[in-house]
Amino acid sequence: MTYLDNNATTQPTARVVEAMLPYLTECYFNASASTATFTGADKPRREAAAAMSKLLNAEEPDCFIFTSGATESNNWVFSSFARGRKAGRVLVSTIEHASVSEPAAELARAGFEVVEVPVDAQGVVRIDALRDALREDTALVSIMAANNETGVLEPIAEIGRLIRELCPAALFHTDATQAVGKILVDLQGDWQDVDLLSFSAHKFHGPKGIGGLYIRPGFEVEPMILGGGQEQGLRSGTTNTPALAGLASAASEARNLNSPAMCSLRDTFEARLQDEFPEAVIHSRGVPRLPSTSCFSLPGMLGEEMVGALAAAGIIVGTGAACSAGAIQSSKTLRAMEVAHEIAVAGLRVSLSRYSTMQELTEIIVQLKAIRQELPPE
Ligand code: PMP
Repeated sequence: MTYLDNNATTQPTARVVEAMLPYLTECYFNASASTATFTGADKPRREAAAAMSKLLNAEEPDCFIFTSGATESNNWVFSSFARGRKAGRVLVSTIEHASVSEPAAELARAGFEVVEVPVDAQGVVRIDALRDALREDTALVSIMAANNETGVLEPIAEIGRLIRELCPAALFHTDATQAVGKILVDLQGDWQDVDLLSFSAHKFHGPKGIGGLYIRPGFEVEPMILGGGQEQGLRSGTTNTPALAGLASAASEARNLNSPAMCSLRDTFEARLQDEFPEAVIHSRGVPRLPSTSCFSLPGMLGEEMVGALAAAGIIVGTGAACSAGAIQSSKTLRAMEVAHEIAVAGLRVSLSRYSTMQELTEIIVQLKAIRQELPPE
């Protein structure tokens, strides 16, 4: 099987699996018990917090609250915000993942004023529109760091500065699920205006079902789950030690995942694709993107059908909307970029990991050509 759908999920590394195993076998003890320092069950959480803190240059390990992943973290940001409030102005971009856009829609139904900030034709949040939308009463802004479909990097530092300039009291959240472990994130540098940041370990070779929320020191978040008081009283439930051990290992291995080598692999692939399919539309090619992501359309070929045909040939890629199960619809991000419908429904997403090779990418082009030849003439 050739796997090129790494924006959906990645393979845990051998070291990650090895780091998790002891916490499923001999050290299965309760991390919150008073005996945890003796049993060693407190180690995974401590190491995960330290590794995340180092990876993102956070102020301290205590800034991290661990959750089941970015979906939970994103939902928590909105539910915490809504608690004890009846109204407020909230800004989100038009290309957010469903785990942000759905909670935002829920707030709108509850009477909050939710405004969607548009992106340009390349998928970059329009700073002029954001500037206009940032009224004095804006209380929450949630804009993703890297788009899951196109890989476009949003200008988080610039957005943060603008928010601080125009609405100093507004809360700035970024869903950094596709950015963490792939690009440099510096919470005390360029990203110093970010208050809350969501991430998931399985996007950077960690296990599934573990992620977290970074909370800037001094900022208060309402508890999400009440109970035994784990996670600083904010998210109760017995600590998931194997997953945290895996997260710790993945985070400490994660530096420079998206290396220049990966970038040149992706660029070579896109150049060859364009040679073979002159009609191919490669999305967001002109703006900063995750080096791991190539999103393109082959007009006349339906993205969903291509994904199926490639899978039958042993190659796994994504459509633009790989994370949403169910009915075929054109990609949300491509629609927000105002890509024509017939191009948007032809969208495919190839996403690389550190294990990807040029041979695998060449195989995709060969298979796409074969699939095209089998298509009935229009
Ligand atoms: N945000 C983005 C941008 C994502 O790509 C994903 C995963 N597809 C999520 C949030 C949700 O992550 P998880 O499924 O790990 O909760």
